[in-house]
Amino acid sequence: MVVDVKDSDDSEAFNFFGLGGCNEVGRSCHIIEYKNKVVMLDAGIHPALSGHSSFPYYDEYDLSKVDILLISHFHLDHAGSLPYVMQHTNFKGKVFMTHATKAVYRWLLKDFVRVTSIGGENRNDGAPDASTNLYTDDDIMDSFDRIETIDYHSTIEIDGIRFTAFHAGHVLGACMYFIEIGGLKVLFTGDFSREENRHLHAAEIPPTRPDILISESTFGTGTLEPLPELEKRLTQNIHATISKGGRVLMPVFALGNAQELLLILEEYWSQHEDLQNINIYYASSLAKKCMAVYQTYTNVMNDNIRLSMTNSGQKSSPFDFKYIKSIKDVSKFQDFGPSVVVASPGMLQGGVSRQLLEKWAPDPKNLVVMTGFSVEGTMAKELLKEPHTIQSSVNPDLTIPRRLNVQDISFAAHVDFQQNTSFIEKVQPSKIILVHGDSVPMGRLKSALLSKYSSRKGTDQEVRVYNPKNCEELKIGIKGLKVAKVLGSLADEQLIHLKEVVQKELDKSSQIEELEDSEVKTEMEIDGDEKEKEKEKPKEENGNLKTGQFLSGVLVSKDFDLNLLQLQDLHEYTQLSTSIVKSKINVKINADISLMKWHLEQMFGYINILNDDEEEWECVVMDVVDIFIDRTKTGNGLYITVEWINDNLMADSLADSVIAILYSIDASPASVKLSSHVHSHNHTEVKSEQQEDISLEKSAHANSEISSRVHRIASLLEAQFGESLIPEGDDKAVIKFGKNEAKIDYLNLTVQCASKVLRDRIENIIKRGTALAAPLSQFQKTV
Ligand SMILES: [Zn+2]
Ligand SMILES: [Zn+2]
Repeated sequence: MVVDVKDSDDSEAFNFFGLGGCNEVGRSCHIIEYKNKVVMLDAGIHPALSGHSSFPYYDEYDLSKVDILLISHFHLDHAGSLPYVMQHTNFKGKVFMTHATKAVYRWLLKDFVRVTSIGGENRNDGAPDASTNLYTDDDIMDSFDRIETIDYHSTIEIDGIRFTAFHAGHVLGACMYFIEIGGLKVLFTGDFSREENRHLHAAEIPPTRPDILISESTFGTGTLEPLPELEKRLTQNIHATISKGGRVLMPVFALGNAQELLLILEEYWSQHEDLQNINIYYASSLAKKCMAVYQTYTNVMNDNIRLSMTNSGQKSSPFDFKYIKSIKDVSKFQDFGPSVVVASPGMLQGGVSRQLLEKWAPDPKNLVVMTGFSVEGTMAKELLKEPHTIQSSVNPDLTIPRRLNVQDISFAAHVDFQQNTSFIEKVQPSKIILVHGDSVPMGRLKSALLSKYSSRKGTDQEVRVYNPKNCEELKIGIKGLKVAKVLGSLADEQLIHLKEVVQKELDKSSQIEELEDSEVKTEMEIDGDEKEKEKEKPKEENGNLKTGQFLSGVLVSKDFDLNLLQLQDLHEYTQLSTSIVKSKINVKINADISLMKWHLEQMFGYINILNDDEEEWECVVMDVVDIFIDRTKTGNGLYITVEWINDNLMADSLADSVIAILYSIDASPASVKLSSHVHSHNHTEVKSEQQEDISLEKSAHANSEISSRVHRIASLLEAQFGESLIPEGDDKAVIKFGKNEAKIDYLNLTVQCASKVLRDRIENIIKRGTALAAPLSQFQKTV
């Protein structure tokens, strides 16, 4: 449930800064800033340029400010400079991409390094130039492990920046990012296509409407041929060329539409016996690896692929081809007669495709099919102009006659005008920033969109369209917008109320089921001025729900999120260690007394139990903090009252620690262990460790004294990992768990481990250990 809090004077700007890919196709890299958070979108290279000039304008922005870098897909114009950013700039943010993108990215960049180190020879001056090596293999491998992955439809939140990945079509692993910062919603499309092909999902419409859409505009107002017609034109051209004894070259990007083309060719060959003695080659140094990746990631492909796997009894993948041979380079290729070669690179800047082009160009029987988007300034683009001669890549002084037939049959999986506008129509952004398009098509798209939405000008629904240039700062004023989520029992109450309202008005079970999900479903508006007074008036929006009821609760702000909830739900929903400036606090935890006692004893060694009868339970911690439990209150969990006399800082700090422990019991990994194996010997071990700790605890009471912290973390880890935890000196330890090994540094609080799962688990325990040790006043207090 969401409540919009309107706040008129809280107007802050959203900044967009394009370091590349603005009014051009290539070196995509955009910075978005809002409320001091910085997200970078893509880190590409420009395929038509070489060396540092192929990079986005990294010098124009302080990359150390970037919190998160999101990579949309593996194409070099989106990911080609990532190792440079991670290894050779002051960037220190986190990097995310999908699993499939990461799998492909590694091979692709290694190949790119290999090609560019040779590629020096292909430069205009003809001289090899080692300095054109943008980064090394080592850079790729050193940064690779630091790249984190995101699943489609999963949401990750880091320091108040929340982002979700959606299918974008285009190529395997490509995603759109739906980003939320402080209530502002931004959708970045990356490259996307709305047409399902033989193996990919079409781009999705995210369920929530973004305020700002950052969209590619590659084809501007152009119209693409429908896929079936393209396929027909392609296969007919190929068939005709082969019938008259010609050769067919299809320059492709090593991965992406190459795989789609191979699926098309394989199917066509299987249906035409007369072609089956003609070889199809897939020529790329990455050919084998590419195929392996595609065979691995069929799970993120569409139903066509799954269907064909089911039909074949899952014995073979659709990417196990019968008529297509993968070859590494032309040395394996015997050019004796008609053949079809699908070869990289797609832009014909060098490599196998360029070699074959130069060899086959003089013969008019031959055919070259341009199947992708040809970037301005490359041989691919040049060839589309059907020049009489082409330049030799080996010897720039040599020209080669061009008589072979050139066909432009583009399978570049981008949206055309109709697809893009219908996408925008469905997504309903109020601001659109166009990127990834050459100036002319982009400008045309902008004008077309503005005229489409001209009737809304000056109204609330006005749509603004921007097409900034590289390094041109775009500031968009955002009307103060605060969104508060209503959570926990407060939300449940509201949902029950709303359910009643709906039930009266409608008899559609589906709608009611939807309401049972206590997550964001219903939007309501709050009168802004009242938000401080904890009184909110929900109003009808988004759907058929109407209510005039007032809500009251505690408004909690974390990063930019405002959460409205009841006090007892604070821990569950905010994970905040909280304190109230009062000498009495009620806490409800889902644990029993023995577990609570165990946790308190872990921290304080001894607790003085004053009362342990049927009606009530009471103890005193360190003679200062009184813990009282009313056992007559039934239901799940314990209703705990913590009382103390806050006449000095120490009492406050001690009470804070007690409350922090109580709040953390539910989430404690030790709790899980304890409740499932109450009599495990680890229990006693932990306890004796803790006993040593008490003296320290007493002297440096709830203080983050280092040795105390080390002890605490060590005992938490031991409770979890038992004998697998091997101490190394005073401040280090190793956990050996199955095949995995994790190195822990207690002083720096770092964990080194190849297994992300294990590392995350250990890091969580350390975080909890540290949180327990520090006095609560060091935490964010927001009540
Ligand atoms: Zn792309
Ligand atoms: Zn692109």
